[in-house]
Amino acid sequence: MAGTIVRPPSEKRAAKALEDDRIPASATGVIAVDLDALASNWRALAKLVSPAECAAVVKANAYGLGAARVIPALRRAGCRTFFIATADEGAAARALAPDATIYALDGMTPGSADAFLNFKIIPVLGSIAELREAVASLSGQSAFPVALHVDSGLNRLGLSLADVQDVNAVPSRLKGLDIKLVLSHLACADDPTHPKNEAQRKVFDQMRALLPAARASIAASDGLMLGRAYHYGLVRPGYALYGGQAFQGGRTPVEPVVSVHARILHVRDVAAGGTVGYGATWSAARASRIAIIAAGYADGIPRAATAQLPRNVYVNGAAAPVVGRVSMDLIAIDVTGVTPVPQRGDLVELVGKHNPIETLGVQSGTIGYEILTSLSPRFHRTYIENAAHHG
Ligand SMILES: *Cc1c(COP(=O)(O)O)cnc(C)c1O
Repeated sequence: MAGTIVRPPSEKRAAKALEDDRIPASATGVIAVDLDALASNWRALAKLVSPAECAAVVKANAYGLGAARVIPALRRAGCRTFFIATADEGAAARALAPDATIYALDGMTPGSADAFLNFKIIPVLGSIAELREAVASLSGQSAFPVALHVDSGLNRLGLSLADVQDVNAVPSRLKGLDIKLVLSHLACADDPTHPKNEAQRKVFDQMRALLPAARASIAASDGLMLGRAYHYGLVRPGYALYGGQAFQGGRTPVEPVVSVHARILHVRDVAAGGTVGYGATWSAARASRIAIIAAGYADGIPRAATAQLPRNVYVNGAAAPVVGRVSMDLIAIDVTGVTPVPQRGDLVELVGKHNPIETLGVQSGTIGYEILTSLSPRFHRTYIENAAHHG
């Protein structure tokens, strides 16, 4: 044996995950998370932005994919800096990554400074009130590691230009604070032609010049695709690590991480004129074969559909349109003419090779981010890791 490691392509790994006999017969749906693809995505982005550091945003339970598996996998890939939203998420992340640098993007809610100090979570502070609380929470000798969030035009969180000027004029506002990072967030980074990107970057530089020198960060998944000028010392992608392709100016060098399949519970014939589902909103134009699958809005498949676009589910690679309303636990799909004839118990693809997360997002009138973070806690999760064989 030559001893080279051959990694099957991600599609093959995903297919194998579904054959896996560890999937319980009673599971109505399967979410397969390819941790090998996740690790390789992080490495690809780290390479793209080097010498800037590539952190990982793992808020909202790693975008719904399971922080308990995602954080250790990213650590093994080499990631040393993580961003979560809240102190509670930070405490969970700390247990998984004892030596990592962890930032909390939501900053501190009133009176919560101890939660950050206790777990060594660095709050991202974005208002004078938060700075005041952080300074007041210090017991004299120790320093409080913090990040400063400056608002360069999103008007969400972050110090305004006037706040930054105030901090510049009154240095005691930062007394005892150890500023690890100054960050800002872009409003339109998915669109490389948008003038707001460069405008925000200029405001960011202007604000940084008024603050003590520190590492800087403005780019998330899309911002890092805008070029070197946006990388600064650190980039903080989330969505792209999970295979997301939100950037409109080209392909982000990442591969899919997630697939979602649900089981067919029942296949029935509906006569021409028969209706399907609540509100009788769909009626069969011809004798139809309808498969009922075990996924609904409680599983994160949005009930809202856009009238213009059919939403498809894939049955052995064949597109089957969703018909009628999505209900809490069930969806009906039209499988008339699909061969081989789908059977009760078969797994059909909601997200995967044929249906990228973006497509389901667009067809549901939303974005891939919302699809990801809403995926069912009810579905069986299977993680693909070290799917390498020696050849
Ligand atoms: C969520 C978030 C990110 C990550 O954004 P992605 O688009 O998922 O890469 C980065 N920075 C801030 C401030 C965020 O809120």
